[in-house]
Amino acid sequence: MRILVTGGAGFIGSHLVDRLMEAGHEVICLDNYFTGTKRNILRWIGHPNFELIRHDVTDPIRLEVDQIYHLACPASPVHYQYNPVKTIKTNVMGTLHMLGLAKRVKARFLLASTSEVYGDPLVHPQPESYWGNVNPIGIRSCYDEGKRVAETLTFDYHRQNNVEVRVARIFNTYGPKMQVNDGRVVSNFIVQALQGIPLTVYGDGSQTRSFCYVSDLVEGLIQLMNSDHIGPVNLGNPDEYTVLELAQKIQALINPGVEIQFKPLPSDDPQRRRPDITLARTVLGWQPTISLLEGLQRTIPDFAERLGIPYTPMMV
Ligand code: NAD
Ligand code: UDP
Repeated sequence: MRILVTGGAGFIGSHLVDRLMEAGHEVICLDNYFTGTKRNILRWIGHPNFELIRHDVTDPIRLEVDQIYHLACPASPVHYQYNPVKTIKTNVMGTLHMLGLAKRVKARFLLASTSEVYGDPLVHPQPESYWGNVNPIGIRSCYDEGKRVAETLTFDYHRQNNVEVRVARIFNTYGPKMQVNDGRVVSNFIVQALQGIPLTVYGDGSQTRSFCYVSDLVEGLIQLMNSDHIGPVNLGNPDEYTVLELAQKIQALINPGVEIQFKPLPSDDPQRRRPDITLARTVLGWQPTISLLEGLQRTIPDFAERLGIPYTPMMV
């Protein structure tokens, strides 16, 4: 198949490109390199099945493809709040253009949506049937309201134009190839612990997240794309940790001597987040296989290598 991956030079996108290329597909990777980098897909440059296009999804493009994985959008709060208007344009106009493309060439379209559509959830854990508790005017709104509109557009193209669509609601995902300056919690703590500087816990660290290792997530995306289920489907790891527990785990794995420092909690920071993955288990037969400890042990050496910092795994 000929498969388009928007945001393919980013963290999740590049792991998805790896899997699709390894499966023998023709892959077109489209990216504007805002938070992605050529380095992430360097191994495929020059491969006859691989094409790299520098393009911004807020502009339309004509391509011939069978499937579209639409991931283009900065995912870290630091990056999506850098230019919030651009983030909304990417979510709304970018998704509109990719759905228009899917309609024209009759491609199947998968939207990388997010657990952020649940906002600061009043229901715990979050099932797909929960409509969310989102602040429409806050500093996270460009991203979470943007993704909510992207979901709406996806379902309207499906109902109005018979576009075959899939919607994945992705929960916090981590792994090798996250940018060193990504700004999300797992990469921040790993970089700080490796550099021997204090781990910055925002608030008192009692807020929770559920962390999914990237290979599990990519498997879920591919299974959803090739299933009969339209979605939305939660994809994430239901094991829930407080941010302080995560800091302590990373501290123990890298440098038990490093300090933990408490910083102000950013506004609208969700207090609890954990996916209910009953639907993914039922309709896809999918569930994560990699524990947080194992995932961190696979991730840390990649960061150490890129930072040029020697790392000897600690026994925990
Ligand atoms: P990322 O920032 O590493 O990757 C996003 C990619 O999209 C980058 O390569 C970036 O350059 C590209 N991009 C951004 N704006 C673009 C534009 N206007 N035109 C073309 N390319 C553009 O983030 P990620 O973690 O790999 O996330 C990928 C997708 O998954 C995003 O849509 C994100 O919202 C979604 N998601 C991720 C997580 C997570 O925890 N990683 C959680 C929920 C949802
Ligand atoms: N966080 C933290 N220290 C950091 C970065 C993030 O304590 O250096 C917290 C953040 O406030 C949030 C959680 O970790 O409560 C997850 O943040 P992230 O940006 O990774 O993703 P989010 O789930 O908030 O989109």
